Amino acid sequence: KKYYVGMDLGGTNIKLAIFDEGLAKAGERRLDTEKEYGSQHVLERMYEGITGLLEETGISVSEVEAMGIGVPGLMDIKAGVSRFSPNFPDWEDVPVSSWLGERLGIPVYIDNDARVNLYGEWYFGAGKGMKNLMMLTLGTGLGAAYIVDGHMLYGAGGSANEFGHMNMFREGRPCNCGSSGCLGRYVSAVGMVNTLREKIGEGRTSIITDWVGGDYSKVTADMLSEAYDMGDRTAIETLEETGELLGFALGTAMNLLNPEMIIIGGGMSQAGERLLCSTRKTVEAHSLKLARDACRIVTARLGDAAGMEGAAAYARLRHEDVTAR
Ligand code: BGC
Ligand code: ZN
Repeated sequence: KKYYVGMDLGGTNIKLAIFDEGLAKAGERRLDTEKEYGSQHVLERMYEGITGLLEETGISVSEVEAMGIGVPGLMDIKAGVSRFSPNFPDWEDVPVSSWLGERLGIPVYIDNDARVNLYGEWYFGAGKGMKNLMMLTLGTGLGAAYIVDGHMLYGAGGSANEFGHMNMFREGRPCNCGSSGCLGRYVSAVGMVNTLREKIGEGRTSIITDWVGGDYSKVTADMLSEAYDMGDRTAIETLEETGELLGFALGTAMNLLNPEMIIIGGGMSQAGERLLCSTRKTVEAHSLKLARDACRIVTARLGDAAGMEGAAAYARLRHEDVTAR
């Protein structure tokens, strides 16, 4: 039997799964990224994830045809080198494909994490078969990817998707990319937690402070949603303000690319309409009517599994392309 491994490398978690040739899932695993220990450590965590998954499922590495990984940041896709990732400390020119590939003895292909999520939703999820489609992932950063006229958009150097580093303000929160005021510093899981924290710093209160014992790094999408449902004003405003910023960005994207659907994924998408309600209102007020009427905003159908499934499909695609030559 032949198998493909798909991995979604996130700032918090490494998620990976193994699929058979027909891309039916045979096993899945999640582990902490532990990014604070640097890139070498993260590579080792990825390796541990794979060997652990193979052991658990009883599948031998010789049965694995190829592996695909969604990596945040800018990369040399052909060489399999992650050039720079603002989501990780100590992360420059990390040879992901060769390091893992040589240890495992299989081909390892990388692509941007948001793009791999979109492959998942495009092949198997909410955007099946569409020709003009966009996806945003709200996690450690804000990721984006686009299908334009039936093709995944890559750009000259493969980085045609850095929506999260658009500056929406004249000044703003500093970003690891070197700029400040980047959209992803606000519209992302980390960004929302910072918005909440800022409000609390200004003297506001929230039930969430009690839930996390003052350690806001523990705030999750579920907590924000639950506090929202309980009527917690600070949580409500955090979701509404984030949703509004997202709306300005989506309205611009609609005007620019005229997609028929925009899919919101990543951990924070679980907040659903609590977040998207103000997004829709803002889009309604600030985009071209014909563009917005043509576009639906939905949450990811595959949830946070989109990246794993998409990465495996991407691996199969790249692999078939290589072996056909
Ligand atoms: C990175 C993107 C990535 C996104 C989501 C951003 O900070 O620059 O490449 O897709 O975070 O992880
Ligand atoms: Zn930035």
